[in-house]
Amino acid sequence: MRMALHLPTIPDEVAGDIAAIGRFAAGRGWVPATSGNFSRRLDSGHIAITRSGIDKGAIGARDLIAVALDAPLPAGVSAETPLHVARYRADARIGAIVHVHSVAATVLSRADAARGYVELDGFEMHKALAGITTHESTVRLPIFANDQDTHALAERIEAALGGEPSVPGYLLAGHGLYAWGATMDDARRHLEGVEFLLTCALEERRLRR
Ligand SMILES: [Zn+2]
Repeated sequence: MRMALHLPTIPDEVAGDIAAIGRFAAGRGWVPATSGNFSRRLDSGHIAITRSGIDKGAIGARDLIAVALDAPLPAGVSAETPLHVARYRADARIGAIVHVHSVAATVLSRADAARGYVELDGFEMHKALAGITTHESTVRLPIFANDQDTHALAERIEAALGGEPSVPGYLLAGHGLYAWGATMDDARRHLEGVEFLLTCALEERRLRR
């Protein structure tokens, strides 16, 4: 018989942090119909992540589950948990990961899927992203083809990102946006910044029509 896996309890502060980002994203219409998921690192080997099928605007402590980064996933976790786990494993500095199904991310990730990235050029908002200090920059947000096999998808994404992505986020084609940061505040700033940039890019394309 296998030994029961010991998983850390999720501190109230972590649960509160995840509930807050859920309310924030839901308030902006970025996680419709129970979509999206949010996670935070608990320690070097564990994270807390939202369960599948819950309203992300009303996340309670029981809607979260602790997951080991180096063990098979427990039942009831979000189907996209492998994408979170792979990112945390790839970079020990990541403390929080957020994922949304916004209109701008969904539309642009489809429109530019063949090219493999959305190009964002010359926006002041670039400075919201870690490591970028000027608007005189071109940000290329990678796009990966969507896949219901999220274990295989996570492997493909991490191989392509190569451990040190220039942007703290990526798109899944026709699906949505992943963003991350050292803390939940960083992850939220990156999410909000990239969402703003994507919305601007989408509006500019509509103007050009
Ligand atoms: Zn999703």
